[in-house]
Amino acid sequence: MKSITKFDLQYAHRFYGFQGEAQYLHGHTGILTIEVEDTINEGVNMVYPCNEIQKVAWDVLKNFDHALVLRSDDPLLPAVLSVYEKQGIKNGHPQNKMKGEAFKTELATAYPDCRLVVTKETMTVEGMIKIVYDLLKDKLNISKITFSSGVNCASAEFKTTRSIDRCPLCGISLDENGVCPKCGYRKK
Ligand SMILES: [Zn+2]
Ligand SMILES: [Zn+2]
Repeated sequence: MKSITKFDLQYAHRFYGFQGEAQYLHGHTGILTIEVEDTINEGVNMVYPCNEIQKVAWDVLKNFDHALVLRSDDPLLPAVLSVYEKQGIKNGHPQNKMKGEAFKTELATAYPDCRLVVTKETMTVEGMIKIVYDLLKDKLNISKITFSSGVNCASAEFKTTRSIDRCPLCGISLDENGVCPKCGYRKK
């Protein structure tokens, strides 16, 4: 069975070098759907609580919300950073509060202080799915990710091979010691 959660992401990007309108900087509301697959956790009669999927995923996804996503070789990148620098907002601002946890993977690096994500590949809907799976695959048993942005939509399915121990009282993942970080339940 699956637990399915949706996220809205407002972001700006462009397809650097692409022959078409998308080479110009523009914005989207992207809709990301994450499907988590597992057995039903008998204790709570759920696969995984959707609000907990929201919490775990949003910690990293926040980096894409109200953010600029540029490819690492895009000449707009140094140009934007130099403006942010001159304006004194490159390294953060007191009103920039909804920040995600900074991350760096093979595919993308997040700079929450200036609401920027730098990607290795063009951030198409396909590119976004690769980035998100890579960021969350060890935290959630993801079986499918769908991302739609404007008229573009893509989805990818993944094999869930790991079994994650979940709390029989509140449904979330137990830590490495078999303890629930939320309610304190301890696995016998
Ligand atoms: Zn676009
Ligand atoms: Zn618990």
